[in-house]
Amino acid sequence: MAILVFSEETDGHASASALELTSKAAQLGEVTVFHVGEGSADALAELGAHGATSVHHMDPGDGLPAPAAAAAIADLVGGDAPAAVLFGMGNTDRDVAGRLSARLGRPVLAAAVDLSIDPVRVTSEILGGTQQIITEATAQAPALVIVRPKAFAANDTGGPAPSTTAVAAPDVGRSGSAVVVERHVEEQEGPDLEAANVVVSGGRGLGGPDNWHLVEELAAELKGAVGATRAVVDAGWVPYSLQVGQTGKTVKPTVYIATGISGAMQHMVGMKDSGTIIAINKDADAPIFGIADLGVVGDVQQIVPKLIEALKARS
Ligand SMILES: Cc1cc2nc3c(=O)[nH]c(=O)nc-3n(C[C@H](O)[C@H](O)[C@H](O)COP(=O)(O)OP(=O)(O)OC[C@H]3O[C@@H](n4cnc5c(N)ncnc54)[C@H](O)[C@@H]3O)c2cc1C
Repeated sequence: MAILVFSEETDGHASASALELTSKAAQLGEVTVFHVGEGSADALAELGAHGATSVHHMDPGDGLPAPAAAAAIADLVGGDAPAAVLFGMGNTDRDVAGRLSARLGRPVLAAAVDLSIDPVRVTSEILGGTQQIITEATAQAPALVIVRPKAFAANDTGGPAPSTTAVAAPDVGRSGSAVVVERHVEEQEGPDLEAANVVVSGGRGLGGPDNWHLVEELAAELKGAVGATRAVVDAGWVPYSLQVGQTGKTVKPTVYIATGISGAMQHMVGMKDSGTIIAINKDADAPIFGIADLGVVGDVQQIVPKLIEALKARS
């Protein structure tokens, strides 16, 4: 069965979510990608390597991509409809999914973590990831599905470059007059939080921004990335780009170390699928211990410096 995947290009590369979705779709059927952006050879090659056989490419220039992309996809799926159109959770992905939903008059199945085709069945997380529901799409194809980051692995199977068809941005009237005036590149030091093998995250239990260096030093010793809870982001200790959770990033490292984090469900939904979870918290009843593989009950200000010292002594 045919599946359409939405992809947006940034800095000459396809988005991580597009590669994850293309890989999954390739296991289920024949994948066509609707790719928005410059259309660099690298981005197209990445999509092919992950299983896309054909790509519809639209370059919106400086225009806000979603209005034209939604109109173009609506035209595309009007005839020979794929079973599903898959989106990641990026801003443009969600913008296009919403507009396409309005154009086609059918719902969007959101927060998907698994998917099967024929019939289309979508497993979604609800209530902050504490429950899962399975929804079967019974409306006319295609089903519109937004998938959570890292629900599927991106598999580079070395496929050939896909055949590419240029799609002109359709005239969408006044909604097509919105332009992107500025792009902000997220500041980043050290390994990429979403791709890191080790993540050390800190929460309010650190006591204040003056103690944040403990999280950074532990992460540096482990060559890991630094994460944070929303509580400390909201308090202004660290930038939003470090937030892990429902309204932040989803991470799936081999090792996740939670220091001074209570384990609110909105935080856990962004890290619960990590390989080994280690929690340090002075409250033995903290919910984070419910999902931790290794729990240390104690004061982060005593334990973390000792850990750093021990790691330094080993290197
Ligand atoms: C719609 C919505 C979306 C949200 N999205 C997110 C999100 O994406 N990510 C997120 O993280 N949160 C999110 N939240 C907030 C979430 O509900 C929690 O408020 C937040 O995660 C708590 O952060 P925390 O664990 O740092 O703080 P707290 O809950 O205050 O926990 C601090 C912990 O530190 C421990 N502690 C205190 N002192 C020490 C010490 N000296 N040594 C060891 N342990 C100590 C305490 O026992 C406690 O367990 C969201 C909330 C809402 C309503």
